Order: sequence, then C-alpha cells, then structure tokens
Amino acid sequence: MLELIKRLYPICRSITGGGVRQTLDILESHIAIERHEIASGTPVFDWTIPDEWNLSRAWIKDSAGNVVVDTAVHNLHVVNYSEPQHATMSLEALSSHLHSLPATPDWIPYRTTYYKRDWGFCLTDRQRKSLRPGMYEVVIDATLAPGHLTWGECYLPGESDREVLLSTHVCHPSLANDNCSGMALLTFLARHLRDRRRRLSYRLLFIPGTIGSIAWLARNEARVGRIDAGLVASCVGDRGNLTYKRSRRGNAPVDRAVERVLQASGRSHRIVDFVPYGYDERQYCSPGFNLPVGCLMRTPNGEYPEYHTSADDQSLVSAEHLADSLQTYAEVCVAIEEEISRDAGDGRSATLLQTRSHQADRATQTTGARDDSPRYVNTQPKCEPQLGKRGLYRATGGSNHPGATQMAMLWLLNFSDGDHSLSHIGEKSGIDPILLTHTADLLVEHGLLVRV
Ligand code: ZN
Repeated sequence: MLELIKRLYPICRSITGGGVRQTLDILESHIAIERHEIASGTPVFDWTIPDEWNLSRAWIKDSAGNVVVDTAVHNLHVVNYSEPQHATMSLEALSSHLHSLPATPDWIPYRTTYYKRDWGFCLTDRQRKSLRPGMYEVVIDATLAPGHLTWGECYLPGESDREVLLSTHVCHPSLANDNCSGMALLTFLARHLRDRRRRLSYRLLFIPGTIGSIAWLARNEARVGRIDAGLVASCVGDRGNLTYKRSRRGNAPVDRAVERVLQASGRSHRIVDFVPYGYDERQYCSPGFNLPVGCLMRTPNGEYPEYHTSADDQSLVSAEHLADSLQTYAEVCVAIEEEISRDAGDGRSATLLQTRSHQADRATQTTGARDDSPRYVNTQPKCEPQLGKRGLYRATGGSNHPGATQMAMLWLLNFSDGDHSLSHIGEKSGIDPILLTHTADLLVEHGLLVRV
C-alpha cells in the first residue's frame, strides 16, 4: 500500500480531468476496474456535471524573473480547478488570490474552487511574507472546458446479488492520508476479497468526492435497493486510532458489524453518530436514499492538524497503520456477511429496518411525543442540493470547518424528512435554536424546505 501511495501521491487530481484517469490507470495495474464517464453539462439530480480541468503548470514570477511559486514544486500551489490565467499585476492585486496558513507557516493549504469560476495560489505563509511589493507575472496554464467526469468501479460478484458498497474519493491531489490511503486500502481490499468466498457481492467505487457519488447515485438509482451495507474509506493511514462514523440509520448491519469488530480488537477506538458532513456518506445517507453506509477511518477529516495541507504527506501514513486498517476492513466484511445472514434468518428484512431510523426513534424517546416544534420536508431529498448555485455555500472549498450557517443547512436538509422536528434536529446537532430557525426560514425561501 505504501508503494501504491508513492505512485498516486504526485498526480495532480481534481474532480474531473486527466489526473483521475491516470489514477485509475495505476489502480488498474492491481485490480480490474470498469471505467465510467458522464459528459460535462449532464444534469445529475440538482447538480450538473462540471467542465473538465487539466493543469499543465501554474507559477508566479517576480519582476526580477524569479519563479516564486510553482506547481512543478507542489500540486497544492494552485487553487484546484482554477480558471486559466495569464496576467501581470501588483502584489496588492495578487494578494486577494493568495491563500496561506499563518499558524503553520511552512505548510501549503489545499483549496478548491469547483463551483465558482475563480483562480488563486496557495503558498506557505513564509513564502507569502517574503514577497516584496512590485509587479508579478501570474500564469495558470490549464484548460477548463467541456469533457467528462470519470470514475472507476470494481465489481466482485458473490453468491447473492445483495451488495456491499465500498467507496473512496479520488479527487485530491498530493495529499497522502486524505486520500491516497483510501485508494490504496480499497485496492488491496479488492484483491483480498477477490480471492475468497463471497456470500455478498462487493462494489468498490473510486469516485471524485461529492459530484462523483451524486453522479453514481443518479446513474444507479434503480440499483441502490440492492445495497445492504456500505463504507466510505478515507484517512486510513495515519497513526491515530480507528474511528467509526455510524450510518444515518445508526443500527444497520454495517453499524453492528463495525462496532463488533472494533470491540473485539480490544484496542482504543471511537464510535460517533452520523453527522451530515464529511465525505460521500453525506450523499449516500441523504434522506432520499438513507443507505446503510458508514465511514470507517482513523483520525477523522478536520481533526488532525495536517488535514488539507501539504503536511498531509507520505510521512503521515505508516505501513503498520495501513495494514491495521486493511485488516479491520477485511474483518468487517466477514462481520457484515454474518450480520446480514443473521437478519435473514430472523426474518428481519433490510427494508423493515429502513422504514424508521434508529436515531429518529431515539430522538422521539428523549423529547417525548408532545413535541410541537415545526417540521419540514426537504424538497430535494436525493443527495444534497447544490447550495453554491443558490449563493448559500462558501465558494472556496478545502478549509477545515464549514461556517455555522452551512452546518445548520446540512443538518436541516438531511433530517427534514418528516420524522424529525426542528427541536429534534437542534438536540441532535447541538446547533443554537435561533440559528436553526433562521436557517430553516432561509431554506424555505429558496424552496429547499417546506413546512408540514
Ligand atoms: Zn479532503
């Protein structure tokens, strides 16, 4: 896995473009991958497949002709998905396009601008402070034009056509733990599963984050009823303990399986409830799908200082921890098959468990039946609606924490399924009730929620 990470790390990936294809080429030298593409401009639920971004090189030159920032040195130096640029400008004008991290002055931040046409550079704060007033030549030699969104699937049929979905994102450039580790883990898990008896079928997805899972769900809507369990693999190589984020249902076979394996391991671990933020479980667990998909990682996104910076490099992942994660995933697959066959034996069907989420039941128990706070229903329950096109989401992605209003939107959209009142959502999320009420009003104004 370390060797594979070493090959994957230098590639300049994005949500579309040659970086994803090159990545799949490398994974294909280990496992059989079926490639899928959707043309730019194709609608997928509330979203549209974006243009294809391909970067040759981006750099900044000072007036003496010295190259002071250069993607040939590090892929993170350009804001991912920046539009092409060639201009000469003052440092003052350039400044609004520069991103750095004063608290960690030797690290380059990872920033994206997928859903708003913009451009920028990321650099260490030390580099930034060394820039003297004067004129700078800025070049982003890239193409941003209609093409395709690409993803890879590895399907391993089992005795039953009931499926386990394993998903990992393939859109991050030169970040080792998030998420070369996830790609390496699923690749080697596929090789492990390939050679053993499988009661269930396994579908491994190598997809660009967010838009990739939305596109996959749009294309495979008729098939999602076959999914009995799923896991999103991310951040699986760092030295932290394992963390399991439950599915939205909270008590699905996958939740029981992972909890059982982690408990049996006897090692420190953490189990947390579903929150509508993180990786592609946000889409799989959107209320219109509510698939039994959890997320098994080591240190979660945003909880380690190197997250989304150049310090998330190959020194952050270790063979020992990658191997431990792989072993755990392999054990979880066995446990999932046991849980599913036990449910089948008990006559408990997955659909029965799906009808009402465990968390909704728990919320009802704690707040009692006389809850008269308002209830809303999400009008776009299949995947997250695209908040950016409505001006409701920050344009530059990658930073550690979303704003409070954005979190309130995600909670409201995910749990406004008729089962959860505003006070339930407030209790589950810990979000200030006044902010929650104002945000609900805002989402009603935009037609994303209706009061019931
Ligand atoms: Zn990430």
